[in-house]
Amino acid sequence: MLEILRRIVQEVSSAKDLGDALRVVVARIREATSTEVCSVYLYDADSKRYVLMATEGLNQAAVGKVSLSSSQGLVGLVGSREEPLNIDNAPAHPRFQFLPETGEDPFLSFLGVPIIHNKRLMGVMVIQQRDSRQFDESEEAFLVTMSAQLAGVIAHAEATGNIQRLPDELNSKSIAARFAGAPGAPGVALGQGVVMVPAADLASVVDKQAESIDEEIERFEQALELARIDIRKLGGQLRSELRPEEMALFDVYLNMLDDNALGAEVKLAINQGHWAQGALRRVIMEYVSHFRLMEDAYLRERATDIMDLGTRILAHLQGSESETSADDYPDFTILVSEELTPAMLGEVPPNKLCGLISVKGSSNSHVAILARAMGVPTVMGVIDLPFAQLQGKSLIIDGYRGVLYSNPGAELRQQYQSVFDEEKALAKDLEGLLHEPAETLDGHRLPLWVNTGLITDAVRSLDRGAEGVGLYRTEVPFMMKDRFPSESEQQGIYREQLQAFSPQPVTMRTLDIGGDKALTYFPIIEANPFLGWRGIRVTLDHPEIFLVQVRAMLKASVGLNNLRIMLPMISNVTEVDDAQHLIYRAWVEVVEEGYAIPMPQVGVMIEVPAAVYQIRELAQRVDFISVGSNDLTQYLLAVDRNNPRVADLYQAFHPAVLAALQHIVKEAHAEGKSVSVCGELAGNPMGAVLLMAMGYDTISMNATNLPKVKSVIRGITLTWAQDLLREVMTMESGVVIAATMQIMLEKAGFGRIIGPNIDPNLGKQLH
Ligand code: PEP
Ligand code: MG
Repeated sequence: MLEILRRIVQEVSSAKDLGDALRVVVARIREATSTEVCSVYLYDADSKRYVLMATEGLNQAAVGKVSLSSSQGLVGLVGSREEPLNIDNAPAHPRFQFLPETGEDPFLSFLGVPIIHNKRLMGVMVIQQRDSRQFDESEEAFLVTMSAQLAGVIAHAEATGNIQRLPDELNSKSIAARFAGAPGAPGVALGQGVVMVPAADLASVVDKQAESIDEEIERFEQALELARIDIRKLGGQLRSELRPEEMALFDVYLNMLDDNALGAEVKLAINQGHWAQGALRRVIMEYVSHFRLMEDAYLRERATDIMDLGTRILAHLQGSESETSADDYPDFTILVSEELTPAMLGEVPPNKLCGLISVKGSSNSHVAILARAMGVPTVMGVIDLPFAQLQGKSLIIDGYRGVLYSNPGAELRQQYQSVFDEEKALAKDLEGLLHEPAETLDGHRLPLWVNTGLITDAVRSLDRGAEGVGLYRTEVPFMMKDRFPSESEQQGIYREQLQAFSPQPVTMRTLDIGGDKALTYFPIIEANPFLGWRGIRVTLDHPEIFLVQVRAMLKASVGLNNLRIMLPMISNVTEVDDAQHLIYRAWVEVVEEGYAIPMPQVGVMIEVPAAVYQIRELAQRVDFISVGSNDLTQYLLAVDRNNPRVADLYQAFHPAVLAALQHIVKEAHAEGKSVSVCGELAGNPMGAVLLMAMGYDTISMNATNLPKVKSVIRGITLTWAQDLLREVMTMESGVVIAATMQIMLEKAGFGRIIGPNIDPNLGKQLH
């Protein structure tokens, strides 16, 4: 059976379209099960009918013509019950529906199984036989397995637009399509797709002997120089958008293009007799395949940068570089690419760029980090996207949910346009709150801090009235380099952050790599990265990295004295003791070097369930506590925070999460320590209300949400929030709690703030 299954799956994957795939499936299944009929009925959500889409054994003329309503026939029964139906006398069943067009009356045995993908019913697959018999268990298991495979194929066909090739009956849908990816940068954008394709194709370069090695070297050197000029130009175009620290990425590119790096290797290959293009392909492909083999997602993405550079050099060698000028981009350009690179961002004039879409990559890609800094709504990792077809298409990006729509209908456009307008109007209205305190109507103050990573974030945060930095993610500047930044480089970067906020506090987290965050130059390859070498575990094993970082932080704070140091991923007290010992050592060294710096406050992040139950012991050792609710939720619920398949289970308002948060604040206060939350929950106005009611001393969030949170805090009383907290703490379901919070805040007049009120089902019926 397994072998048959494998063969069918292989054949189906190479089918040219969905119709072809279905024809293969029914033919092979009929053959494999030695039955007389195998048919697939697909469910059309618009007409709410099952349409016969492929059959072996029934009348071919009925394909695409015959359909059943969801309450009709045995097919409708299988669909509505969402479980197999295995009977030996179909015509005797009360739900049997005779369809004369199919010529099916003589078949007695019937086995129907639902085709379901991600909880969504896509259709029903049926096998039938003339004689009366019950299909056996192995036949039923085979059909169920086949149908699960088929569900994935159908979902893919829908997503890639292949479903459009189905017969007209099913094609009553509009040609609008919806694609889901991962949120890269928040915001909504409506614009026109511009597909960025590489100007040359490295993979198609053939091997050839160099006729003159000297000439090939010269051609290559010229192309290399032109590629360097490209990168400098592209970087230059982004200079007004990005700060020098973020521009460091372009230096990384230039370093790769250095004569001593890629350049030297290509020249070596030319010297061995290859022509320039062939030598370039060899070197680049070797690097790319090396990186692509890496298990780590971040490292795999570095292959993209190298490929991009290789392609640019090749385009110059071939004289095929694209000459797109600023005028070629529409006013609302949504850049689409199979693999967006930071260099591509520089191709579009910043005033015309309104959104980004990348088939590959994740929210941790460099492009996503830069997009967030530039405030450009972005969707990453849209795996099923037929991206080449999006050129010139009208597109909508929902960067909040990581969804994009192509050719949206008027209604959908209107809804998103109003979200966009509302966001703009709201941001304008909230500007007035800049200098107002975050204080409730009954006089309770809740300082609102921000999370930063790039210096651009710091600047935007001050524009929005942040009162301090609750989390500075130091791994971000580390990710922008191609080696560990030196102590003095780090000192410079940290100084900018500390200075930007002085005299307000800046909480610098020590390097938090591992999990889904890795550095190209420090690969961590593990089977279970989220349960592995992460955060403090890495830096305690590498005291040299930790000490350099802490020394840089300390030196950067000279004269400002607003530094707080925070330790990520703490799961036991020894880690805190060891880290504090190192911090003390670094402080003594720096003081001995002549810097007059007080010992900074040191705190721990509560991100691991174990730490929740040792909060007292931890609080006794440190000056402050900050809850990393993103990781804490992930570990409490055992739900990977980046896995879209289990995204529904990642419930920020799960009663267990809320109970943990309440326990933490109570215990930390019992030890007299201040406590804050710096995960996404704090930036959610509904979450912020609950955290304030629980007694958190500060909350720290992304700069975009700060004015919204402030506006809610200023419009309610602490007593109201506490009553609401009491009520939701009696509830058993995270979904119900979130819905209750939504309703209560809407009723209190904050409907506008807790948006963008995007209906989670908006456009979901589109494919
Ligand atoms: C968290 O886990 O909540 C947190 C703030 O840290 P990060 O999102 O960087 O892992
Ligand atoms: Mg974390």
